[in-house]
Amino acid sequence: MPTSPDRWSLESWFSGFGKPDYVDFKAALVRDIEAMKARTAALTSDTAVIAKTINDIEALSDRLGHLSAYLGCLSADDANDEAVKADEAWISKLEAESTKLMASLRSTLAAPSDEAFATMLADASLKDAEHAVRRLRYEGQHQMSAEMESLAADLNVNGLHAWGRLYDTLTGKMEFQMTFPDGHKEVVPMSRRRALMSEPDRKLREAAFHDGQKPWNDHSVTLAAALNGIAGTRHSLYGRRSIPHFLDTPLFDGAMSRKSLDAMLEAIHTHIELPRRALRKAAKLQGTTALHYFDLEAPQIAAPEEKPLDWDEACKTVDQAFSAAYPRLGAYFREMLANRWIEAQPRAGKRPGAFCTGSQFKHEERVYMTFHQTVHDMVTLAHEVGHAWHSCVLRPARSFASSYPMTLAETASNFGEMILLNGLMNDPGLTEATKAYLLDQEMLRAHAYLINIPMRYEFEKAFYTERAAGEVSVSRLSELMSEAQRQMYGDTLLPDGTDPMFWGYKMHFFISGISFYNFPYVFGYLLSQALFARFKVEGASFLPHYEAFLSMTGRATCEEVVKQTLGEDLTNPEFWATALKAMEPSLAAYEGIASPQP
Ligand SMILES: [Zn+2]
Repeated sequence: MPTSPDRWSLESWFSGFGKPDYVDFKAALVRDIEAMKARTAALTSDTAVIAKTINDIEALSDRLGHLSAYLGCLSADDANDEAVKADEAWISKLEAESTKLMASLRSTLAAPSDEAFATMLADASLKDAEHAVRRLRYEGQHQMSAEMESLAADLNVNGLHAWGRLYDTLTGKMEFQMTFPDGHKEVVPMSRRRALMSEPDRKLREAAFHDGQKPWNDHSVTLAAALNGIAGTRHSLYGRRSIPHFLDTPLFDGAMSRKSLDAMLEAIHTHIELPRRALRKAAKLQGTTALHYFDLEAPQIAAPEEKPLDWDEACKTVDQAFSAAYPRLGAYFREMLANRWIEAQPRAGKRPGAFCTGSQFKHEERVYMTFHQTVHDMVTLAHEVGHAWHSCVLRPARSFASSYPMTLAETASNFGEMILLNGLMNDPGLTEATKAYLLDQEMLRAHAYLINIPMRYEFEKAFYTERAAGEVSVSRLSELMSEAQRQMYGDTLLPDGTDPMFWGYKMHFFISGISFYNFPYVFGYLLSQALFARFKVEGASFLPHYEAFLSMTGRATCEEVVKQTLGEDLTNPEFWATALKAMEPSLAAYEGIASPQP
């Protein structure tokens, strides 16, 4: 066991990297995956045999996931360990084999008649896996022949994904000549632009925005070709796979319906004045009539100077907030600490970032982060422990009943975060400065999830609609982008305050592996707002519903999970409206912060 309390232990997973138990585990896994390949290749339509195979593939994927999580932890912990890196490369090949296994399982599941499939689902060995198996069948039914899919996969390497790589290469090398407010000139890498646009000095933000626009304009033709190529390929593939609408795949990935998406957006459009009020206040705080695009991510209230928070103190604060509001979560957090399941030590060679991972095989969770003695990092801790708690609640479930979509993934983490922040806000010892800072941060988040990300969705939807009829020009892309910004921001943006080139600047539009990388985040944000609002009203009696919700996240669609465990209807705009209105008290407090006199 490590000696420092902010170091984790992985010894309950393997006695050590390269130790005999680790080596044996690897060898057995390779052998069993090879054997399974032969079995799935020989699968017939005998549903009893298919059911047995599903169970065995599930058990294999638990073991693969266990090893993969272990290696993920080791490589984050020491990013320079070459032996670990080599095994990570090795396991990615094994994962590719497992992906092929799943693909052939999908094809097999597409074949049986509805009656035969229903009989198979009734097999006791598939209890609680029905939702996952039904999804596999749907995917199997919406793919081309094996030969065509294989051709598409090969062509995508040089087509669809090549456009994505072109974007990464082109923008990764971008830099721009910037004239700083003090007059000095400097060549700045594009990767710094976003940080510069989050600076408190407005002149600096403005310079970074205007000077940083040049490369995007210079490369706009290439960027438009990439974006058209990506969307065009998708349209072709959807057609061939009998997927009628370009939103069907992202909705399927989110396990939600179009009706829920439309209800959510309707509520946002109806109540758009709520997040806009936060932007109006931000403009007041900086002394302008409205905001420019380069003002949107800048905090209006700086973090107050505080004495560094040590690890023990942060853990104590999180524990107190959790235990007061949600004793079972508090007890779980203490158990994590006692078991050394959290890695937080600042140390050279660690990978940046934070994540929660776990093993379905060992039924244990781990949290990885680096604690730099700030309130921000304490909030990250609460966020990741929230994720871990979700996994803990799911421990009794089989793994085919415990993988949840992106739409439901952030509910538990946001819930953990909100419990901590709520605890902090109600702490009588909290200074006014810290309170104002936390409110400003909360409003920045509300703006991102309720205005900016929905704006990206509106743009992407308009673009995909037009792309179906042919290539969309640079000027039309910029027009669609400005229209989407005007629609969402209204007059909270200055008359010249839009960013028409945002379609090129935002990397998310160019991710070749996933489209509409936007609305699932809005969904997750609003759903957790709704849950927390109910928790505030109902108190402890809400928690069993919350845990029922978490435990069902891998077993049904979002609509079914929410209906059955919370009794709410996601297809009703009223549900989403209530979630939006939950921001009202914080918004009012934010508006109450004294603005500087003009
Ligand atoms: Zn998260």
